[in-house]
Amino acid sequence: MQINTLIIVTRENLEVTSTPAPVGITGSSDGCWLKRGNGFSYDSHAGFVSVMGQETGKVLAYRVKQNYCRRCAMLGKSCGEQSCCKNWSGSSKSMESGAVVEMVANNPVLNQLGVSFEQLVCDGDSSVGAGIRDATDGACVRVADVTHALKHLSNHLYSAKSKQLTPQVIDYLKRMAAFAIKTNKENPPAIAEALTSIPYHAFGMHSHCSPTWCEQQRSGVVKKWSKHLDAPIDTAGSSNFDYNFDAVKKAFDKLSEKASELAPNGSTQPNESLNSIITSKAPKRIDFASSSAVAYRCAAGVLQKNSSVAYTVALRESNKMSPGKWTLDYKTRLANERARTAKTRKSTKYKRRRRELNFAKKNKKSRNEAKEGPTYLKGKTKILIHQWHNK
Ligand SMILES: [Zn+2]
Ligand SMILES: [Zn+2]
Repeated sequence: MQINTLIIVTRENLEVTSTPAPVGITGSSDGCWLKRGNGFSYDSHAGFVSVMGQETGKVLAYRVKQNYCRRCAMLGKSCGEQSCCKNWSGSSKSMESGAVVEMVANNPVLNQLGVSFEQLVCDGDSSVGAGIRDATDGACVRVADVTHALKHLSNHLYSAKSKQLTPQVIDYLKRMAAFAIKTNKENPPAIAEALTSIPYHAFGMHSHCSPTWCEQQRSGVVKKWSKHLDAPIDTAGSSNFDYNFDAVKKAFDKLSEKASELAPNGSTQPNESLNSIITSKAPKRIDFASSSAVAYRCAAGVLQKNSSVAYTVALRESNKMSPGKWTLDYKTRLANERARTAKTRKSTKYKRRRRELNFAKKNKKSRNEAKEGPTYLKGKTKILIHQWHNK
């Protein structure tokens, strides 16, 4: 089932792209484990890893890696080649890089079709990039995922622990960085230049800015106060200013070092959306990871991603089984509804409103927390009870 699905998926995607073989493409990869990790230990028995085409957003290949078989464990010996679900002998953490190397460098189906990967977008958390470079002798290079890079930027800014760098300011700086990367696609020097000038712009020094994006540089009218940071231009020497500016500059300099990796504007967002479909088919709270059921559940998730939620109708038709009236009605309605929601979510109006609601939520949270005092301290129950009694 798994291999057949893979071939169908691959064929379908090539029809969609309709590019003549041989062809070098940009893919994106990501994986998920099918059991919850707690931030320190990841020991899931199964992992799902996918490679998707950056242009079409369709799954080109996927692997389900399992390092444990419940039946083998019960028998105390191998349960037989046909029925055994164990196909990985390494640790859970090594599943992702192993599977990606297998799909990108040694993929017989894609090789036969003349498809090779020139670039692979992957997040910065795994050793996938190094593995791919070694396995393909440098033919395929790693590209950074912009969302992850921006997340690292905001983490750096948060870790500066400055009062002035509030969530709103950090969000503003993050959006500036995203704009710089997006508008200078495929132009690493321009990205690096724009990123290094953002801290100056934010602190009201516009001599480094480009008139293409800085209104104050363009109009020549320099405001006395920068938009978000409370640093007046003429107190540039004050210690508070120096401290915040240095923290912001350091974070942006670090990001600009990755300009060439950021230039293709790579994204693993489609893979992450697939991962959430997979975890809805094989929920992490139920142990599917040590049985062969997980392979079927993952295949269903891949079909849903590639041919919409109405994949069950197509599957029945391809097996010469006519879908029932209710199935057809329900799935068609569901597919239409999803298409409508997806369209709405892409609109600027929706995105703006979502940001407003997020800010309102954060503000309400911090107001409530300030009013209520400490109510949840990890491992400090005694202190809280003491405070409660003395109220
Ligand atoms: Zn087994
Ligand atoms: Zn400026």
